[in-house]
Amino acid sequence: MRENIIESLKSKLNRRVWESWFGTFDVKEINTDYVIFQVGNLFIRDWLEKKYGSLISRTLREVFGKQMNFRIDYAPSQLQEESEQDEPLVKKRPLILTPLNPILTFENFVVGPNNMFAYSTSLEVAKNPGKYNPFFLHGGVGLGKTHLVQAIGHYLFKNNPDLRVVYLTSERFLNELVDSIKKNKVQEFRERFRNKIDVLLLDDVQFLIGKSGIQTELFHTFNELYNSGKQIVVCSDRDPQQLEKFQDRLVSRFQMGVVAKIEKPDEETCFKIATKMVQLEDAQLKEDVLKLVASHFSDNLRRLRGALIKLIMYQQISNESVDLQKASELLSVSSLVTQKVSVEEKLIDALCKVFNITQKEILGKSRKRTVMNAKQVGMFIAKNHFGLSLRQVAELFDRSHPTVSHTIQKVEELVNSGNVAVKNQIDQVVKYLTDKVSNQFV
Ligand code: ADP
Ligand code: MG
Repeated sequence: MRENIIESLKSKLNRRVWESWFGTFDVKEINTDYVIFQVGNLFIRDWLEKKYGSLISRTLREVFGKQMNFRIDYAPSQLQEESEQDEPLVKKRPLILTPLNPILTFENFVVGPNNMFAYSTSLEVAKNPGKYNPFFLHGGVGLGKTHLVQAIGHYLFKNNPDLRVVYLTSERFLNELVDSIKKNKVQEFRERFRNKIDVLLLDDVQFLIGKSGIQTELFHTFNELYNSGKQIVVCSDRDPQQLEKFQDRLVSRFQMGVVAKIEKPDEETCFKIATKMVQLEDAQLKEDVLKLVASHFSDNLRRLRGALIKLIMYQQISNESVDLQKASELLSVSSLVTQKVSVEEKLIDALCKVFNITQKEILGKSRKRTVMNAKQVGMFIAKNHFGLSLRQVAELFDRSHPTVSHTIQKVEELVNSGNVAVKNQIDQVVKYLTDKVSNQFV
């Protein structure tokens, strides 16, 4: 029976889909009215349920001649064993250690002036692995780094199936090493990463800041791969120079090849990205609604996507299409002038919380050090994060235009010179604000 099910499923899918998604898929248990399957990767399990659920149902009905229920379990341990066998890491079963998100391809990436260079270089790297080595890709949170680096992975899997491509986050790299130490298998870890990889796609390298042991490991891995002409791609939320508490020898290696930065998208590109995201969800949103979302969430496309999903879900549940008014209500952004007011209110609220002062103090003339500090940080954020004009910032904090301009410049200088205290304060306020916004999306 097991064979029948598997064969019948296989016959309905093309070879690539089968190999990518069903490589570790198997029948675990057959009962009178239901079947339990197992698969070795959580991400793939969810994907199979979502995309192939009805196909699996149909197949079971054909094989058993009646309606059968099914469930897919996640079975990690056996897999672990398998991936530790002598076989190359990813060959034949490319997605075990490299759970690429199928959406994150070059085809689904919108190119604009902000990411043109990063995109073209990524494509070149994918076409000629080893030529631009290493490729260091950086940019702010949610601007498309993971998308591009996974797109390189997809491209290679498709066009160069014999290459052993590994995508992993730096956190995962660290965990793999820690695990291997616990199990007394460091030698195997090294063998795997240094000798059994043709292309290493390492995401979020800033995670290794201050972790010297793993940096040393990465250094040797890097050298080994680099010296044998293997492609290395590294992503980070900041440029190599700004990887403070990072070994200099690694930083200089990161800069040896091509360094590309993704900037924040302009409004037009952001609108195109929003349109693409909605299309990928098989949904539709009105053009003015897309424009509204694009204008508010261009600094982080993950939040942009969260906002769109929220609207799409609302449409599906309420069965009515979201108009501009409804969208601004749902996203707590308003489409017209009031937006500035609410943004300003949120900022003042955040400053009071983070600096532990009252609204009266921050809006008044107090010369207390904390209050002055909060104001400086507030002006900087109002200008740089919310894009308020100097005039608006001056009004908000009741200061003259030149004072505001001078203050913001001073804070900028402090940040650029690496002043940790000021940077922390800014981060805290921004985090407070973004947490508040993203909480609305859950
Ligand atoms: P990062 O890794 O830089 O934090 P991600 O790659 O995770 O950002 O991108 C965040 C979200 O935005 C993802 O859903 C991604 O698919 C989407 N995205 C980013 N840039 C683009 C783009 N140019 N075109 C389409 N989608 C994009
Ligand atoms: Mg990322």
